[in-house]
Amino acid sequence: MPSDGLHLIAPSTTWWPASQKPFLISGPCSVETEEQLMQTAAQLAIGKKVHVMRGGIWKPRTRPDSFEGVGEVGLMWMAQAKKETGLKIATEVANAEHVELCLKYGFDMLWIGARTTVNPFSVQEIAEALRGVDIPVLVKNPVNPDLQLWIGALERIQRSGITKLAAIHRGFSHFGESIYRNKPMWEIPIALQTQFPQLSIFCDPSHICGRRDLLLPVAQKAMDLGMDGLMLESHIAPDQAWTDAKQQVTPQALFELLDQLHVRVVSTNDVGFTNELHSIRSRVDKIDEEIIQLIGQRMQVTEELGYYKKEHNITILQVERWKEIIETRTMLAEKLGISQEFIDKYLEILHKESIRTQTRAMNSSAQLPLKNSNNSI
Ligand code: PEP
Ligand code: MN
Repeated sequence: MPSDGLHLIAPSTTWWPASQKPFLISGPCSVETEEQLMQTAAQLAIGKKVHVMRGGIWKPRTRPDSFEGVGEVGLMWMAQAKKETGLKIATEVANAEHVELCLKYGFDMLWIGARTTVNPFSVQEIAEALRGVDIPVLVKNPVNPDLQLWIGALERIQRSGITKLAAIHRGFSHFGESIYRNKPMWEIPIALQTQFPQLSIFCDPSHICGRRDLLLPVAQKAMDLGMDGLMLESHIAPDQAWTDAKQQVTPQALFELLDQLHVRVVSTNDVGFTNELHSIRSRVDKIDEEIIQLIGQRMQVTEELGYYKKEHNITILQVERWKEIIETRTMLAEKLGISQEFIDKYLEILHKESIRTQTRAMNSSAQLPLKNSNNSI
């Protein structure tokens, strides 16, 4: 049966303590040594803000011969850290054997990494290994910006009987320059949340940013969008970390970051606030309606243009005219404080649609009676 992505049933109540938002998962990118882990755990426990300590045991590395994780001995250290600090523990699993070992060592939570989410065979294998176990499982987005693949992985895990499920947004691979290691492409987690309003979504600013100085604004944006939790990598000596050194912070720096974070609530019972919100939203609704009306009008005129060009046997694409449109509209947008990225995207889809409309007009056998056929268009 093909999946339309609508089968995911998120629970109506959160399985994590919603009153303690953000749900916080922190700990080293990789478990390296017993000492490194115990010291990091002890520091993390002091702040009393971390709900679950993370630690990578098997590391999916881009190139061979890089450090690929300490393996089973690390599970033992994690279990020991749990015993000593009371912190719950989580790690990344990429196959059935990983799941079995984590269950053996008393892990409290598992996550599926971005490089595993892309592969339905691996996700299915993990799902089978999880059958009959009720442990929270978090599914990171796939490395490529494919919402359906993300939903598919969540569905596979859910169908194995896992009820404590959440998605982790860790950004997406991309071509070209970016300040981010993995571009956030916020519209993708927003689309996931819109489709599944009850699903818990956490954000992993560490892997989005790849560098410390961007962690706070990205974590803040996640809070502003109503995301439920954060996964932030921390290490007792970040600069010496064996993996992801540039993006890890000390437990102390983690607590400072959290202190600066404004956690938003999704809704409130304050009547004055609700009324004002309603009034602002009505203004937005009215503007949206006007914009759509205007786009409709523009498409009508564009169609007229198509018929006119056909009548005079000239091509749809007039490069000079298009350049002029880009230039004038971009200048206006800049004056109005509209971002370059937004206006670029808007003009691109407008142009595509305009060409489609004109092509339809050109291919049509009908003739449109033009009102001012002497005017040049
Ligand atoms: C990690 O969490 O250390 C990791 C490898 O993350 P991702 O799967 O997001 O790349
Ligand atoms: Mn990492």
